Amino acid sequence: HCSTILRVTDQDIEMDLKGKISECRTFEDMRHVLSAPTMAAIDSLGFTEMTEIQARAIPALLEGKDLRGTAKTGSGKTLAFLIPAFELLHRLEFQQHHGTGVIILCPTRELAMQTFGVTQILGDRHNLSYGLLIGGANRAAESKALKQGVNVVVACPGRMLDHLKNTSGFLYSNLVCLILDEADRMLSIGFEEEMKAILKLVPKRRQTMLFSATRNERTDNLTNIALKVTLVDVDLMAE
Ligand code: ADP
Ligand code: MG
Repeated sequence: HCSTILRVTDQDIEMDLKGKISECRTFEDMRHVLSAPTMAAIDSLGFTEMTEIQARAIPALLEGKDLRGTAKTGSGKTLAFLIPAFELLHRLEFQQHHGTGVIILCPTRELAMQTFGVTQILGDRHNLSYGLLIGGANRAAESKALKQGVNVVVACPGRMLDHLKNTSGFLYSNLVCLILDEADRMLSIGFEEEMKAILKLVPKRRQTMLFSATRNERTDNLTNIALKVTLVDVDLMAE
């Protein structure tokens, strides 16, 4: 049963699964550790083999570790973080009234919309609510949805910060997972200050995932600010 892997307090179970799931190469190999809604979403996408970044990142993320994943564009990073994020909410039996449990920050509207598309597929299977917060869209409608409870938020940093500061009734104290997607691009576009401000507002006790196509001094600095020192580093560009 999937809930067993979440007993991170139980060293034996944790160690036992670590050996087993790190050998998984296909999604079918993961069927014993992933929930039925997640498997149904993967089946509907028609994917069988995990990509390299997925095979390396998903097991560590399911153990609750913070993780930095560096891998080239097109390598499947979106599912590498979305699958563990939805598994976390599933294990916690997250409900609409718990508010926002996961925030995914993306550099551009286009990339946010792409990530949102995959979020919808998983969200529907899990019966979890999801929302897209991007500049230029109807801000009032976003605020209304946030007040009602959006479990998984996909957002650009500027708009995210705006809502965190100004949208009353937006419940994010239950946030358990923060994802910085395409971190190198968020930094090069100029979202460093917004991201730093967001990090100051969201709960400290959370799992953080940083994904990027490249690694540089600025992504290293962001990693140091946002992720635990015990992070797992998967760098396919350096290998
Ligand atoms: P990245 O964020 O690393 O640039 P994406 O997550 O956008 O990559 O994925 C790139 C493409 O690969 C998408 O079209 C996605 O649907 C597809 N994809 C993701 N995972 C798999 C997989 N395990 N098998 C086959 N295709 C996949
Ligand atoms: Mg991506």
